[in-house]
Amino acid sequence: MSLLEVIAVSKSYSLDAPAVRDVSLGIEDGEILCLLGPSGCGKTTLLRMIAGLERPDQGRIMFEGRDMGKVPPHERGFGMMFQDFALFPHKSVRENVAFGLRMQHMATPELDRRVVAMLELVDLARLGERQVADISGGEQPRVALARALAPGPRLLMLDEPLGALDRALRERLMLDARAILKRVGMTAIYVTHDQTEAFAVGDRLAVMNRGQIIQVGKPLMLYQQPATPFVAKFLGFQNLVNGFVDEDGSIVTPVGHFILRESEPTPGKTVTLLIKPDIEAISENSQAVPQPENTIDGTLDAVIFRGRYLQVWVSVQGYRLLFEEYGDFPFQPGDSIRLTVSSSQLLLYESLPQ
Ligand code: ADP
Ligand code: MG
Repeated sequence: MSLLEVIAVSKSYSLDAPAVRDVSLGIEDGEILCLLGPSGCGKTTLLRMIAGLERPDQGRIMFEGRDMGKVPPHERGFGMMFQDFALFPHKSVRENVAFGLRMQHMATPELDRRVVAMLELVDLARLGERQVADISGGEQPRVALARALAPGPRLLMLDEPLGALDRALRERLMLDARAILKRVGMTAIYVTHDQTEAFAVGDRLAVMNRGQIIQVGKPLMLYQQPATPFVAKFLGFQNLVNGFVDEDGSIVTPVGHFILRESEPTPGKTVTLLIKPDIEAISENSQAVPQPENTIDGTLDAVIFRGRYLQVWVSVQGYRLLFEEYGDFPFQPGDSIRLTVSSSQLLLYESLPQ
């Protein structure tokens, strides 16, 4: 049994489509689960139900085997951290961190010790007396995290905690946040709409769309086997093309025809094909030979230097496909090229795209 179990939970605010639909999820002790999905897919609603701020229409939420249905929010012992941090700008960092402990009526010596420990944990011990209004945008989320952790919650929920920060700051803080949560062994649900952040922070990821959880798994598993075209797109894969299955089982698409190694698609089916960005071979396209399977003939649009690799954009029949090249690349935008992709880089979706 998992520490937290969300069992078939649904919630509607109105007669519209439900905000959360039949969601089931388990979270293990000490695990960081990232809830990933586009804006409006129901992430905050799910968190609020777990926190007890919203009542599910259906389903149950269990913690340590106990039904939380009748347990009010403050008795659940869960912590929350929000995107706006909700800090008191004119109070000191120390007072902000002490906030939850004062609510618990913790005795002064213990409270002081606890605040110092939390400030050290987030590496802000030297700023304890500073007003929150006078610390940097990178320090404020650390104060918010210290404040959320101070009362020792049994579960911490972070709702897009770095969503308001610029990219550089976010990239640093996401790693810090993971390290801090791991150091104290916190069980956490970390909500984000950014796949880079989810991959960096989560032990496991749950991808949501339109109120439902579409796929749950470890980052590598999701990356290797996104369960639907929606998940693939959301994880950053660009090359999704529509096609159908030919008599011989090959996949016919506007960008070429493809043979998959480990699947036997049903002839006649409409499919979506995911072509992962790795290139097996690349050559000038002389058009002299007929196009072999698992190749793509297109026009090179742009080559973007990314440090360790090149991002290669290719136009084919109205699709803009994206590849990554790690070796030499003697081509220029405007060139006609032929790319070969390995069948291991192909994933087929027979169901309708979500
Ligand atoms: P997310 O956090 O993933 O952006 P939310 O849980 O905030 O998604 O919202 C899910 C859906 O529920 C959205 O369509 C949103 O408009 C709706 N919604 C959220 N909160 C309320 C509310 N208090 N009243 C009515 N509709 C709401
Ligand atoms: Mg939200």
